[in-house]
This record gives sequence, C-alpha cells and structure tokens, in this order.
Amino acid sequence: MVGKKVNASSVPFRFQSASRKSSVVTVQAADGPVCVVTGASRGIGAAIATQLGAQGCRVVVNYAASAGPAEEVCKTIKASGGDAIAVQANVAKQEEVDALFKAAVDAFGEVNVLVNNAGITRDTLMMRMKLAQWQEVIDLNLTGVFLCTQAATKIMGKKKPVKGRIINITSVVGVTGNAGQANYSAAKAGVIGLTKTVAREYAGRNIQCNAIAPGFIASDMTAELGPEIEAKILTTIPAGKYGQPEDIAGMVRFLALDPAAAYITGQTIHVDGGMVM
Ligand code: NAP
Repeated sequence: MVGKKVNASSVPFRFQSASRKSSVVTVQAADGPVCVVTGASRGIGAAIATQLGAQGCRVVVNYAASAGPAEEVCKTIKASGGDAIAVQANVAKQEEVDALFKAAVDAFGEVNVLVNNAGITRDTLMMRMKLAQWQEVIDLNLTGVFLCTQAATKIMGKKKPVKGRIINITSVVGVTGNAGQANYSAAKAGVIGLTKTVAREYAGRNIQCNAIAPGFIASDMTAELGPEIEAKILTTIPAGKYGQPEDIAGMVRFLALDPAAAYITGQTIHVDGGMVM
C-alpha cells in the first residue's frame, strides 16, 4: 500500500496574527534531499524521519504494520516544512523493497539518503533459540539492509553527478555481543561489516556509508525488557540513563545532511552514553 503524497507547493493558507490583518502566504514545496527511512513509524525511526523533515527533506516514512502512526509522522513532517509519504513494506522481502523504492521515485523523483533503521529482536539464550527466531532477525536486520542498500545505490547512481548518503542503525551489541541475542548481535555485527564494504565500493562514486551504534534508547524495543533488567543495564551506562530517540536522530541528521560529513565513510559511531569505549 502506498500512501498518498500531498504536495505542499502553492498551497495557500491564512496567516493569522493579533497585531496585523490576516494575509495569504504561499507554502513552498519542500525541495530538500529525498530520504528513505525504514521503520519510521515508531521509536528511533520516527525521530529520524521527523528531524530530517524539519530540515526541509522529502521523507519516505516506511513501516510494516503501523499505518496510523506512520501517517502521524508524515503530518508532523509536513507541518514543520518538509514533505512526506508513508509507504508500507516489509524490508526483509525483495519485492516489497522494490515497491518501496519505486514509490519513493514516483513521489519525489530520486533518492539521496537512505537510513536503514527497521529492526526487531527475538531474544532468547543460544541453547533455546529456534532456527526460525535466528532467521527472522537475520532476514530483517541484515538482509533488509542489504536489499535496501542495493535498491538505493541503483537509484543514486542514475543521477549525475552521483551523490548519496547511507546510514545504517546497528547496535553496541554488534560490537560487544550480548547473552540472549545471538541472532540480533550477529545481524548487527554483519551490518558493521556491510557498512565498511559499501563504503569502500562507493567512496569513489561520492556515496558515503556509515553506521550508528546506539546503546540503550528508550523505545518500544527497550520497554519490553522490564524494570529488573533495566536497573541492571543502567549500571553499565556511564551516563546513568537511557538515551532518547532524538539522540540518534541528531547523529543521523549530521551524517545525512551536513557538508562537514562528506569525508566521513565506513565508520561506526557510537551514541551510547559511554557504554562502549
Ligand atoms: P521499535 O520502537 O521497535 O520500532 C521498530 C520499527 O521498525 C517500527 O517502525 C516498525 O514498524 C519497523 N519494522 C519492524 N519490522 C519491519 C519490517 N519487516 N519492515 C519494515 N519495518 C519494520 O525499535 P527502535 O527501538 O526504534 O529501534 C530502531 C532501530 O534501532 C533498530 O534497528 C534497532 O535494532 C536499533 N537499536 C535500537 C536500540 C534501542 O535501545 N532501542 C539500541 C540499539 C539499536 P511497525 O511500527 O509498522 O511495526
């Protein structure tokens, strides 16, 4: 299902002010970079999409099931001067990834930034982990990143001069490992390796690829852990608190949009309150 794009160009609206008469102003169409953010209906992805939208980006808000929240993210983006469409797609599936990127190009004509954020956990100890639990996490958290990156780089390569930025959301556990997360930590470690390879293959074509490794960030994913595990985790974070989705979104904004990030590629940047150093 492809959400409807409402183009903000030439939409007149009334500007009310207590001190002067109402006047008609014209909202300019957002013409910033086109950013595809996977898993942008909730949590970290929603914060990333919102921050990019507030910079005037045209954002493709991907989601798996949460159509309502994805539309809310689009509304917020449009209200802040960006443009957005919501696109449902399971990014673990090649045909749905193809449809996602077709929707992006149909709506906005190009793709300049890809944020591979969609991710799930299926935690259990190694000795109890079923093959299906392993596979489900690998399929989305690693293969999904491969599929979206391949689709995005094809589109980025078509427009001359070629330019693009890819940001992969990995995790500190992809570096440290974590009991109960064999599937998740393997996928996230794989994302770090994939990031370096994509960076090497595309550096000469002006496409930068970096990863961000969040520590523990307040979201639905970490809410599942419960107060006992949370208390234990907090003892391992020098900052003494969970991060917020906006902490990750700020780093994405820098890597995706800032001219100062143009010479950074193949890096994994930790945003984790000092957990891993
Ligand atoms: P979250 O709150 O659980 O949100 C997950 C997002 O992924 C949702 O938008 C969900 O869409 C989407 N999604 C799930 N399955 C999908 C699929 N098959 N195709 C497309 N989208 C799908 O997670 P989060 O905490 O924000 O995490 C975001 C990313 O950060 C993940 O990659 C996660 O591994 C990583 N990370 C998180 C933490 C943390 O502490 N939270 C730490 C390190 C890394 P629906 O709403 O439609 O289900």
